[in-house]
Amino acid sequence: MDLTLPPEDLAWKARAKAFAEGILFPHELELETAGKLPRATKDALRAAVVEHGFNGVNHAREVGGQGCTQMQQTLINEELGKATGALWAVVWHPAVPLKHGSAEQIRDYLTPSCLGRRRACVAVTEPDTGSDTSLVKTTARRHGDRYVIDGEKWFVTSGDEADYVIVHALVDGDPALPTLFLVDRDAPGVSIKREPKFTHTYVFGHPELLFERVEVGADRVLGGVGQGLELTKDWFVEARLQIAANCLGAAIRAFELANDWAGRRVQFGAAIRRHQAIEFMLADMAVEIMAAKSMIYRVAWEIDQGIERKIAHARASVIKLHASEMAGRVLDKAVQIFGGRGYMRENPVERLNRDVRVDRIWEGTSEIQRMIIGGQLGKRGTELFTGWYQPPA
Ligand SMILES: Cc1cc2nc3c(=O)[nH]c(=O)nc-3n(C[C@H](O)[C@H](O)[C@H](O)COP(=O)(O)OP(=O)(O)OC[C@H]3O[C@@H](n4cnc5c(N)ncnc54)[C@H](O)[C@@H]3O)c2cc1C
Repeated sequence: MDLTLPPEDLAWKARAKAFAEGILFPHELELETAGKLPRATKDALRAAVVEHGFNGVNHAREVGGQGCTQMQQTLINEELGKATGALWAVVWHPAVPLKHGSAEQIRDYLTPSCLGRRRACVAVTEPDTGSDTSLVKTTARRHGDRYVIDGEKWFVTSGDEADYVIVHALVDGDPALPTLFLVDRDAPGVSIKREPKFTHTYVFGHPELLFERVEVGADRVLGGVGQGLELTKDWFVEARLQIAANCLGAAIRAFELANDWAGRRVQFGAAIRRHQAIEFMLADMAVEIMAAKSMIYRVAWEIDQGIERKIAHARASVIKLHASEMAGRVLDKAVQIFGGRGYMRENPVERLNRDVRVDRIWEGTSEIQRMIIGGQLGKRGTELFTGWYQPPA
């Protein structure tokens, strides 16, 4: 069994580490203190993403991306996930459903997004629609060959920064016709209703967006009328894989910092790591990280081997659930090991502790991941989780 990573994968990881430490980390405190970064800094970061070749890592070279494998993306996201304030988000991943766009949509939306000239956000959640996406109320009423969209979307990550929105709406209000629409942010009728504050400091906002009689042509339907739920599922799977890798990175950074501190901080005549309570915390962190990394890399490898889509979906839930909960436990211990210093915002551990909390909520809460896993267990049996994937010979 060969578990070695090929040199090109290691090279991506090393470059991502250098990018996180050299380009993202220096902005962490400024972001935390001011709550946002100045426009000029965000523009410089956008240019740096292209300069360092991290634009569109999740898309093919033919459409302007980097054509990275799932394993390469995982290694990159692990390194970027170490940055606080979700600075990893400056490295854009144009939403995967865009792959299903028409030739014109790929030209006008996907390619410019990979190149960093455009930026998308995805709007599914609504005031009455959270975990249960079948409750979407946003409608797209047909008027001849055009659609008129009305609705309210919540928590739209990067909705303040994006220049277009992938809107999940029901055609003619029909629950059987969930559909994705590409809506330009500056289209008449699109507005920001509110920009709430959240637990974490995040490099972009999560505004509430209003769509009031927003007219779009039929050419703005992404992937076909009625395909919305299926495409949104693809987005969830990709996002869950990314979250798992980001959580792994966050946990590793906190572990390294806490381990270092435990060796330097002396109380009661000894470095605190010599007190077994602290040593055991560090040991548990090591085990948690090792287990999570093994799972996450395995699933990335399986996806690269062409594992069936439904199995990938189940596996993405497993690693999202495990990694986000693991990160919560590891970060909590890291804060404890730092004592009062772990509660200071200038400490990356304090910031990461707040940052990883949302990973148990967005892109499907931990309870929803358990529902998916439980559902698959009922349909396919235990082998799906206890077995080992064998690529076809
Ligand atoms: C910072 C942030 C950014 C976000 N970004 C985006 C974005 O870009 N685009 C977007 O569309 N959405 C986004 N979201 C929304 C996010 O995906 C939802 O918050 C999440 O899916 C949960 O929905 P909800 O908040 O309505 O909670 P609810 O669905 O109301 O759930 C509340 C609680 O009930 C539990 N629950 C619900 N149903 C069940 C069940 N059947 N069994 C057991 N427990 C259940 C949940 O697990 C949770 O604990 C974002 C959210 C946050 C906080």
